[in-house]
Amino acid sequence: MAIDKSGDFWTSPDAGDIERFLNDLAAEEGSIPINRFRAARCACGSIEFRLRGDDEEGRAERVCVACKMARFICDSADYWSEAEPERLVCHVCDNDTFNIGIGFSLEKGKGPDVQWVTVGERCVKCGVLGSFADWKISYSPSAHLMDQV
Ligand SMILES: [Zn+2]
Ligand SMILES: [Zn+2]
Repeated sequence: MAIDKSGDFWTSPDAGDIERFLNDLAAEEGSIPINRFRAARCACGSIEFRLRGDDEEGRAERVCVACKMARFICDSADYWSEAEPERLVCHVCDNDTFNIGIGFSLEKGKGPDVQWVTVGERCVKCGVLGSFADWKISYSPSAHLMDQV
């Protein structure tokens, strides 16, 4: 599958393209490269979520549309009391269900430690790709965050 970049927004029919999208976006914006990627999958097997978060502070929580289980993304729970979460709605089609994948930028050398977390999402209805929030990780060790997608 390929990402369609011909329109105003990048789109893909395939949830598996979130990783490539985040890589391409980082390259295009000249931001820190993403070294690891993990797709969000609920314990029930679903890959469709509602997404709530604070794009200023960079915190996010996902809620499975199938079983309603909520889970904080990476270390968001630690800072949730300071966040002003809003529900994400697709700016193209108003749908509020997404596939989610998290990109991790790793510090070179020992560790490795996570330096930056980037949340990527894909609207399950119209396929629009986006990056809702990203935030810096400034503590160590932080490799465990890669298991908290
Ligand atoms: Zn579920
Ligand atoms: Zn949409």
